[in-house]
Amino acid sequence: MVGDVGVGGTNPIRIQSMTNTDTLNTEATVAQIQALVEAGCEIVRLTVPSKREAENLAAIRSSLARRGLSVPLVADIHFTPNAALIAAEHVEKIRVNPGNFADKKQFRVEEYGDAEYAREIERVAERFRPLVRRCKELGRALRIGTNHGSLSDRILNRFGDTPEGMVESALEFLDVCEDERYFDVIFSMKASNTQVAIQAYRLLAFRLEQRVPGRASYPFHVGVTEAGDGEDGRIKSAIGIGALLEDGIGDTIRVSLTEDPVREIPVAQLLARRAQAQFALAQKISPPASKSSDNTYPLAYRRRQTSEIRIGGLGWGGANPIRVEVDLGALSGEPEAVAREVARALRSQREVEAEGLVVSIRDERDAARFEAFVKTLREEQVALPISARITETALAAALPATAARILFPLRMGTAQSSLESAATLARRREVPLQLMLRGDFAELTALVDRCLTLQDSGVPLLFSVESAHAVHGVRFVAARLGAAGCEDCHLQLAQYPSEEVSSGQNLIDSAVELGSLLCDGLGDGLLLPVRGSLGATVALGYRILQGARLRTSWTEFISCPSCGRTLFDLEETTARIKARTGHLKGVKIAIMGCIVNGPGEMADADFGYVGSGVGKVNLYVGKQVVARNVSPAEAESRLVDLIREQGRWIDPET
Ligand code: SF4
Repeated sequence: MVGDVGVGGTNPIRIQSMTNTDTLNTEATVAQIQALVEAGCEIVRLTVPSKREAENLAAIRSSLARRGLSVPLVADIHFTPNAALIAAEHVEKIRVNPGNFADKKQFRVEEYGDAEYAREIERVAERFRPLVRRCKELGRALRIGTNHGSLSDRILNRFGDTPEGMVESALEFLDVCEDERYFDVIFSMKASNTQVAIQAYRLLAFRLEQRVPGRASYPFHVGVTEAGDGEDGRIKSAIGIGALLEDGIGDTIRVSLTEDPVREIPVAQLLARRAQAQFALAQKISPPASKSSDNTYPLAYRRRQTSEIRIGGLGWGGANPIRVEVDLGALSGEPEAVAREVARALRSQREVEAEGLVVSIRDERDAARFEAFVKTLREEQVALPISARITETALAAALPATAARILFPLRMGTAQSSLESAATLARRREVPLQLMLRGDFAELTALVDRCLTLQDSGVPLLFSVESAHAVHGVRFVAARLGAAGCEDCHLQLAQYPSEEVSSGQNLIDSAVELGSLLCDGLGDGLLLPVRGSLGATVALGYRILQGARLRTSWTEFISCPSCGRTLFDLEETTARIKARTGHLKGVKIAIMGCIVNGPGEMADADFGYVGSGVGKVNLYVGKQVVARNVSPAEAESRLVDLIREQGRWIDPET
């Protein structure tokens, strides 16, 4: 229980956020808490940098009570155990960061012998123990909140900057709690790198299960930290949080955006609602046991190995990047006009380009339209591969010779002879065949087995899956293919045209369904139906790949969500820096609100812009501070100069 809000067990996924006001400013903080509660936030965290803010929590609590608000509050503590003890008197939960509760981060490289390491753990434990005892006496909950970017030097020196180090760091703190017979603990394992976050949470779940096999464990607070703002921040959050919720991991979530915290709530609600619906569905249909655990809940990233195939001259699988294709559906209107429109949209795309189009063919007439469409596109100098999705009824039509591959939807009612005809057609045309499996788990088993009869047909096979369990259906098919020794079958992660959804819902669904599988190492390509514009659809595919850290097309921004420690307008500064540096493919820039946590939490950024005092900014190259107390008016240009000096600058295209 966090106050009167239950977390874990059979409770719904709880939504939480954090204020970014000065905790000493009671009025502003209370107003923001009220706005968060009205938006649907169920637990609110506040930064508590010192004893003064901790003491002011009493005034905040009283003011909230006068407004009739009883929302549980959480005090966020870094470096200040004394403030934590005071805060525990006034709030329902304390968050501590094992990396800095009792350690100052020096980035020192040091070898620790076992005895010295044990002494250090004991020192940290003794600093932590009074807080645990106080929380137990007062009935407060406690979050052991590890961050990838702020592991202690001791942990870094022994385990490196790894999920394993994150988990060890948290378990050392749990040992103290359990030693005191205190169990009101919630864990988090945040990172701005989605893969690291997913692996760390999974590893912690695994390690906790090992400690007490078969028993319900501690609840998890799930989030991706320093996710940034806008679409990218939402995509990163949806990949990390969504992937874990798909695993059944996550009892309370926070979406961290460099925006007004109220805007985090609808995103978190979309993710929570989606997960609750999946949980309800999972109770009705459970997946059959797989013969292979390959790629199930991996604790480290490993891409599913396939050998290269060619689709219209473009390499897929093997060492090729994960491809991005767009599903145009059936052509509507004159095919030549559609082709010219598509060519225009593709040409206007600057940083990223579609790597294939898929067009549906239902009959002879569609086949002729397909040919006309391809011919016009080629005249427009568009050379990308165009594949044909054919229905069972279209098999009898004179199918176009220009199709780069054939996609064939396969469901239980599809005749085996039709499947064989599709394979024969692909073999004659010397193009790969993609089998688009549609069904629930039991049906997917039967469908994969039917497809495996084509294994020796000489046709390169790809698979995609349409299932109510979008993520688990693909995992299941991948495992089944692995168990059948069908390693060379490629997987495309496809989203299927469905009823119209809002752009926000589409963004979240796409990021969860595609991103979580990508982080599991699955998928040689993405196929997205056009929603909104063609350009926006292509960009979404690439943004998901970047969010999953698998293919970089733009600058990566790591920006903190801001809090009461923030020393400048983070949202506005981030927008300005983005506008100037957003074209630097592969460069990671951190924009952090304060010097207390900023440098530690920048993780693997190449450059850092960190508030060091009111009206002052420190600039970093990696973890090294290279300019101190620069005025904000100059800081942006100095950052660009630094990027130039490091040879990472390119001029933007005009
Ligand atoms: S880095 Fe940002 S969110 Fe973290 S403590 Fe500093 S200002 Fe707050």
